[in-house]
Amino acid sequence: MGNNFSPETLCNHPEFHPLPADNHPLTPPIYQSVKFTVDDFGELKKIFRGEREGYFYSRASNPTLVVLERLLAQLQGTEGGRTLASGVAAITHTLLTLLKSGDRLIYFLESYGPSRAFAEVMLAKFGVEIVKLSLDDRDGIKRELAMPRTKAVLFESVTNPQLKVAPLALIHQEAKKHGVLTILDNTFAGFQSWDSWRFDLYIHSLTKYASGHGDVMGGAILGSEQLLKSMDRDLHNLGSTLDPHAAYLIQRGLKTYHLRRRAQVENSQILAEWLEKHPAVDHVVYPGLKSHPEHEWFTKHFDDTGSIIFLSLKNKQRDIEKVVTRGKLFMMTGSLGSTESLITPALFFYASDLTPEERTRAGIDPSSMRLSIGIENPKDLLADLQLILSE
Ligand code: PLP
Repeated sequence: MGNNFSPETLCNHPEFHPLPADNHPLTPPIYQSVKFTVDDFGELKKIFRGEREGYFYSRASNPTLVVLERLLAQLQGTEGGRTLASGVAAITHTLLTLLKSGDRLIYFLESYGPSRAFAEVMLAKFGVEIVKLSLDDRDGIKRELAMPRTKAVLFESVTNPQLKVAPLALIHQEAKKHGVLTILDNTFAGFQSWDSWRFDLYIHSLTKYASGHGDVMGGAILGSEQLLKSMDRDLHNLGSTLDPHAAYLIQRGLKTYHLRRRAQVENSQILAEWLEKHPAVDHVVYPGLKSHPEHEWFTKHFDDTGSIIFLSLKNKQRDIEKVVTRGKLFMMTGSLGSTESLITPALFFYASDLTPEERTRAGIDPSSMRLSIGIENPKDLLADLQLILSE
């Protein structure tokens, strides 16, 4: 651009300085631009028709998001990926775009609360038939997956907060047999994949382990390009796009994902073993404990045992609201998977919509708590738990 423009014009058309072709930043740049232009209109039409790569409007896509999407797909072992504004946006976008009136969706009473609420409130309103089962109901899973019009099953590899492990082999086998789409929310297990069971779509809340620092929200849908492309038009129309700066922060967080997760798992094992012996504790659920009903199966099939611990107290009358606000390190709040340790009362946060019978089946009582373990020194975390549990 010439430099004989007036200052007001210059401010709105700053000159670009592209890097020399052999000169690359080590950190992917943040394309903080809503709009992209193309020199030739014919080329723009090709971009619109999906005949060549290119960008036009960041609600549809942005190169910073693509860097993250490719990395996430590689980590999960899928062909492609799309990123969205939150984990919930990834779940709702998937269900809204793939289901139509008359289809049946199978989901679980142990599923993440907003997933259940979305199925029950929104999808039911649009005429999707919703079928709620317990993960323990293996006969029900087999029966319902075989029913006509069953389009999809939404499940979590490890459930929030009571750490039940989904019957992955059964769901995989029966869903494939009957052509039912498998949608796995893999947030708790991280980028775990299984050679023998490939699912159609993997959902992640990137707000959790992926970004890891509790300072950014995001979600991902990972699967085959064909399936993802079939959802793209609605992605533009629904508009729950991830911001490029958020995409950059998540991608930066992923640099330490494996280190963080390893430290979190090590801490969790120490704390879970200690909690199991504590006189105030009735029972502890952690897949790394031999007492976990699926400990052997879990350690054979999963890369690690995660960093979430679920526990219930012997004294069910304890004022749980006081217990969870007593720590100096374990802060009482939602979310999980970040570097700092957190504590939440389970009934209030995860089961208030369930009937008393469903709560019992889901394994949640008034004294139940969920801990998300961070990367602090385990000595300090043990001292904090001692304080939290003392009468
Ligand atoms: N899926 C699971 C299993 C979760 O635990 C959560 C959040 O806690 C989500 C999805 C939603 O993610 P987000 O908070 O990024 O919307």
